[in-house]
Amino acid sequence: MTAKAGEKAQKTGDFYCASCDEKVHATKGQKIPECPNGHKRFEARRNEPGNKS
Ligand SMILES: [Zn+2]
Repeated sequence: MTAKAGEKAQKTGDFYCASCDEKVHATKGQKIPECPNGHKRFEARRNEPGNKS
């Protein structure tokens, strides 16, 4: 699942830049900010510790 800067976040969580893996935090219903390095595409991931072993 991907997301773009400027879109409304469908859920609260952290988004990781698809280009540089920088993390931004978005709140459900609010616009997703741009990556600090100017990228606009994100992969959405949740904080799920222990998902990978
Ligand atoms: Zn980036």
